[in-house]
Amino acid sequence: MVETNLILLGPPGAGKGTQAERLQADFGLAHISTGDMLRAQRAAGTDLGREAEKYMNAGELVPDEVILGMIGLRIAEQDAREGFLLDGFPRNTAQADALSKTLADSGRRLTAALLIDVPDQEVVRRLAGRRVCSKSGHVYHVEFDPPKREGVCDQDGSRLIQRDDDKEETILRRLEVYARQTSPLINYYEQAGLLRRFDGQRDPDEVHDHIRATVATLRLEDEL
Ligand code: AMP
Repeated sequence: MVETNLILLGPPGAGKGTQAERLQADFGLAHISTGDMLRAQRAAGTDLGREAEKYMNAGELVPDEVILGMIGLRIAEQDAREGFLLDGFPRNTAQADALSKTLADSGRRLTAALLIDVPDQEVVRRLAGRRVCSKSGHVYHVEFDPPKREGVCDQDGSRLIQRDDDKEETILRRLEVYARQTSPLINYYEQAGLLRRFDGQRDPDEVHDHIRATVATLRLEDEL
């Protein structure tokens, strides 16, 4: 069986995490989110977490050497050997080059880069209204998916909070960083013949159906 190695590309708030969870279930791929890995380090109070926090709260990218060390170890783990889904990585061309090299060195390759496209004003609306449970991390939206009682998690009654990097000024900074550093990867993967585009403004179920069909086709082609 050929491994399926995917990248999810798209601005913050495009729905990469949501789609990644579903695709993980569909195809049994390891879901690797560098944002989640960094938040776990921060919650555990490690040196790496403390170092990363400064950048995360400012909406800036964490330095490449920190991220590359983390990713190199993670994609070599057993559960990622049969395929992985990268969410939030690579974020610039240096990271993309490093990823190609790491994969090539171990005889592996990328299957596709899946771009979930969403315009800036929609990103701001989605992220500024996002609230997360302070305990479980369950995600709500004040307008699109509100909790039954304002500010309180439906599942466990904990307080809902706004992620520091979901404050409006940080969102704008994250969008600038995306436009300048990450969006060149669209062309990068297009040139490599790996890019597949999806309209992230559609209903999440529809986006999921489209992506799943594309990935299923790619897997079939790989097996031929
Ligand atoms: P995310 O949850 O993917 O939006 O990531 C949250 C924050 O973590 C980003 O705004 C960055 O500060 C940091 N981060 C996540 N992934 C990367 C990456 N591949 N390179 C640099 N910084 C990252």
